[in-house]
Amino acid sequence: MGKGITSRSEDYSQWYNDLVIKADLAEYSAVRGCMVIKPYGYGIWERMQAILDKRFKETGHSNAYFPLFIPKSFFSKEASHVEGFATECAVVTHYRLKNDGNGNIIVDEDAKLEEELIVRPTSETIIWNTYKGWVESYRDLPILVNQWANVVRWEMRTRLFLRTAEFLWQEGHTAHATEAEAIEEAEKMLDVYADFVENTLAVPVVRGRKTENERFAGALDTYCIEALMQDGKALQAGTSHFLGQNFAKAFDVKFTSKEGKQEYVWATSWGVSTRLMGALIMAHSDDQGLVLPPKLAPIQVVIVPIYKTDEEKAQIDGFVDALTADLKGKDVSVKYDDRDTQRPGFKFAEWELKGVPLRVAVGARDMQNGTVELARRDTQTKETVAQEGLADTIGNLLDVIQDNIFQKALNFRAENITEVNSYDEFKEVLESKGGFISCHWDGTVETEKRVKEETKATIRCIPLDAKEEAGTCIFTGKPSTKRVLFAKAY
Ligand code: AMP
Repeated sequence: MGKGITSRSEDYSQWYNDLVIKADLAEYSAVRGCMVIKPYGYGIWERMQAILDKRFKETGHSNAYFPLFIPKSFFSKEASHVEGFATECAVVTHYRLKNDGNGNIIVDEDAKLEEELIVRPTSETIIWNTYKGWVESYRDLPILVNQWANVVRWEMRTRLFLRTAEFLWQEGHTAHATEAEAIEEAEKMLDVYADFVENTLAVPVVRGRKTENERFAGALDTYCIEALMQDGKALQAGTSHFLGQNFAKAFDVKFTSKEGKQEYVWATSWGVSTRLMGALIMAHSDDQGLVLPPKLAPIQVVIVPIYKTDEEKAQIDGFVDALTADLKGKDVSVKYDDRDTQRPGFKFAEWELKGVPLRVAVGARDMQNGTVELARRDTQTKETVAQEGLADTIGNLLDVIQDNIFQKALNFRAENITEVNSYDEFKEVLESKGGFISCHWDGTVETEKRVKEETKATIRCIPLDAKEEAGTCIFTGKPSTKRVLFAKAY
């Protein structure tokens, strides 16, 4: 066990908390449900942002920024939207404090807002109110905008990264002339997310559609990517919504079509949040700490010198300088940990805890032999390799590690998707191993709710690649044409 982290088998949820704190990713703050993201954790989030931002721009989107506050009247305009978010809204009612004369600072009742402001839980309403002024004709479409922001949802049960009251995210909001184009956009962004999560976070995902019950409030269709964590629970890693004309109607956003007709605009929105940090941690890490896929690691390679004399250190320094320059030339991020305040063993444990994919240890004997010791974080294996060609060796190994981390997660998921054909089997699998359960469902909200009440499992998604297959609902026995994925989820 590394540095007092509870083991996964002992208590998975405690393991997760210990890891987030010990690896210096985040900590709880003085504000209920809100966290402080520490520099090392924020560095990983910045890597996610940079890679996603590039992908958004490559797919034609630009960033913009909208207000933190939403007038209550805007928020109320789309009926199902307000209904879905009403129970978790923070509301600003006053704009001033005052001294009550006895040295107490109190809210100044004379400074009551005429209209309350909602701290955005998501920005569709303020954005569609803005788009009204941006769109007149088909020439103004599409609008392809993304915003990086914080949002607030007054969650009752919170967990570092996975579910916090305030979280960081990006929200894309697009406007289109046709239904087909909007659906295509929603699907395209789901693919961008899936590709990012699989190829960068190395977490395999199922692409699917949400059922009516789990759909975003105000959407006609919610697409999602669902990932499986090591404890057999699912995690919604990203969503992309086809909003139809709901927000255009609520905010009266019309355009003149090529044919000269007035039509409502079609919309999408899509988002991923700091929850992805939770997915990353829960999917790959172990009892020694974090395991970071190289593509996301702020530090990909750490070099630790092992020496006794100043001469030895000087010789190692010379070698490390050259190696660092080579690695930087290959865009590999390197840290030379030559602190003389800590012993090598301490440094090894610390970088292991922080998930650095590759460690290079180089000592005086290595310098004589022309070798170094390479240690992989993912497999915890060590090997002695030649100094000659080391930057290439390292570059290749980082690719191998990225691949291995993904394969491991993919194998785990394959072992934890179980097809069942009866409710007894369903409950048995859910209790014994969890994971995704693939089964037939009759398509009704009622059945979904009953199963949730009885087992806590929800329909994570109707996979986009689900085959047409005649079957019967495990709960009601009614006919069904496709299997869906159930799971207990974060
Ligand atoms: P939504 O707007 O509900 O579709 O959510 C957009 C994204 O934010 C999804 O990827 C969710 O998984 C994520 N998300 C929703 N609620 C939270 C929360 N309380 N903390 C962190 N991430 C969240």
